[in-house]
Amino acid sequence: MSVIDKARDLVEASDGGRLPAEAVAELGADSGAGIERLMLDLLPLAAEFSMPVLSGFQVGAVGLGSSGALYLGANFEFPSCPLNQTVHAEQAVVVNAKGGGETGLERLAVSAPPCGYCRQFLYELDSKGDLDIILANTPTKKLADYLPGAFGPGDLNVKGGSLSGPRVSLKYVDGTSPKSQGVEAAMKAAGGSYAPYTSAYGGAAITTSSGGIYAASYIENAAFNPSISPMQAAVIAATFSGNSAEVFAEVSVVQCEDSKVDHAKACCIYRRSWCALFRKNRPKNFVY
Ligand SMILES: [Zn+2]
Repeated sequence: MSVIDKARDLVEASDGGRLPAEAVAELGADSGAGIERLMLDLLPLAAEFSMPVLSGFQVGAVGLGSSGALYLGANFEFPSCPLNQTVHAEQAVVVNAKGGGETGLERLAVSAPPCGYCRQFLYELDSKGDLDIILANTPTKKLADYLPGAFGPGDLNVKGGSLSGPRVSLKYVDGTSPKSQGVEAAMKAAGGSYAPYTSAYGGAAITTSSGGIYAASYIENAAFNPSISPMQAAVIAATFSGNSAEVFAEVSVVQCEDSKVDHAKACCIYRRSWCALFRKNRPKNFVY
């Protein structure tokens, strides 16, 4: 069995685009140069999850978390949406790492140097400029080498750390209660969101017809634009779980009262495009 086939089985077993540290060890590359080789070898597997409905260009990325786990990422394009809704593979790595409870990324393997948008997004990690960027046939360099003169959290007096930020304590508005398990999952994800610039904490959850629930958190950026909305993150979580072919029975969005960013409204505006990505999937219920 090839490394990719074995890794594919291990990723499916992990339910969420990640290879736990034990799985990485099982693939025989848990240290030294071996891990970088493995990360590069897994790029085609990561790209299998991409949904490049506009460009037709599949991109994969693989990140190494502080725990020793590997996280896959792929590009997502949404039909009929503005192009700025596109999620790049490097961003999807961070979404999956956050979903996996990772607190930091140490290395990132990509097939080409990250674009400027991704460099900015990655600068929000705890590792900031120290993140190793791994490319085939190119010496490994730091993110700082690719992003001189960076603008980041420190310029706004924010410590930063899109993966390690403290959980936020949220509670339901008086008189309301969770309407479903999806809402509860979205609430939990909202508590883990990273929103130091607007405090617009938010989470989203996709519940499939078979009862699978895929929740994910909002992730902000000092430069605002490369931020990831809760719904974008939930689509990524559902896709990497391998269950995106199922019908979405419910989409839940949780946000703060009087939020500066209306995640629910954004979900309404773009929901047809997000769901069209999955052809057969037409959510029957949207719960806010
Ligand atoms: Zn990019």
